[in-house]
Amino acid sequence: MSHNPIRPWRNIERRVSRKIWVGNVPVGGDAPISVQTMTNTDSGDVKATLDQVIRAADAGADIVRISAPDVAATTALKEICRESPVPIVADIHFHYKRAIEAAEAGAACLRINPGNIGDEKRVKEVIKAAKDHNCSIRIGVNAGSLEKHLLDKYAEPCPDAMVESGLDHIKILEDNDFHNFKISVKASDVFLASAAYQQLADATDAPIHLGITEAGGLMSGTIKSAIGMGQLLWMGIGDTIRVSLSADPVEEVKVGYEILKSLGLRHRGVNIISCPSCARQGFDVIKTVEALEQRLEHIKTPMSLSIIGCVVNGPGEALMTDVGWTGGGAGHGMVYLGGKQSHKMDNDRMVDHIVEQVEAKAAELAAKADTDTDTEVDAAE
Ligand code: SF4
Repeated sequence: MSHNPIRPWRNIERRVSRKIWVGNVPVGGDAPISVQTMTNTDSGDVKATLDQVIRAADAGADIVRISAPDVAATTALKEICRESPVPIVADIHFHYKRAIEAAEAGAACLRINPGNIGDEKRVKEVIKAAKDHNCSIRIGVNAGSLEKHLLDKYAEPCPDAMVESGLDHIKILEDNDFHNFKISVKASDVFLASAAYQQLADATDAPIHLGITEAGGLMSGTIKSAIGMGQLLWMGIGDTIRVSLSADPVEEVKVGYEILKSLGLRHRGVNIISCPSCARQGFDVIKTVEALEQRLEHIKTPMSLSIIGCVVNGPGEALMTDVGWTGGGAGHGMVYLGGKQSHKMDNDRMVDHIVEQVEAKAAELAAKADTDTDTEVDAAE
């Protein structure tokens, strides 16, 4: 996935996990690391929830989770799952009946801890519903809600307690011959989450769902998630991720992608390389990048764009990007295409012109990707 024979310092060896399916999205094994988010609407409100699911999917979410705390929610799930463009995970706490209803409603995955839903009979009923409806399960251990006997044993939430909780839940599923599961051990503390995930990665081959829980607002939560999840992903740990922010789910998706993009683990849309700007800038770098980020949101094809204020770093960065702009004097800048100097353009027309160039390049790259796929299919036939 990120194997780079020319620049080996960029390689990330992913932990070997087994592959499961969340609906039509593979998780684990050699599957791309999927990006998830969660709705924050009233789950019983089909329209509001579905609108949010669609906005998240448009932003790139591969999987969306929805809380299912009551019958109204599991009833609404039926229509939401039918209309959703991406697989839906139903988030269940304690209520085994909600889990069964969610599986029947078409959820692709249940987020539920089998050790917390009561006696063996209930566990078996939930597992049967999951099997009958081809529904996977995510065991979601959280440092803030560890079982009492583990807190008594370990005195406080710690990696050993979190992993033991996870392995206890795994054992219940495996004893019932259920293997279609993934697992998370989230904590809001980066050190605790990191240590727990590293320990978990050694203890199971189940796919791992990464997350720093309750990370905070858009800015602070993004930084915390990037540090915590970033270093785990860099170690090769993590098969699917959710960035938890007190912000719009679309922002969570964007941040998730940016983390994966930074590590070369996944690419989507335009990766903008821009300088911080200084007195040498030939145009207003900050305003231009803000405008371009908005104007280029619709591009899904992975590609790169450098927006650099002056010739100090502009030509060098442009060499390594699909489209580049370097600020110059006298109200114009230089456009680079495919790493080569192409033509001058007035600053006044800069944003429109770059959008045109990026759209053209995206269309060219998409057409090439289609041709390559066709050639591979032909060769295979
Ligand atoms: S590239 Fe030029 S404008 Fe941008 S920060 Fe560096 S010196 Fe300043």
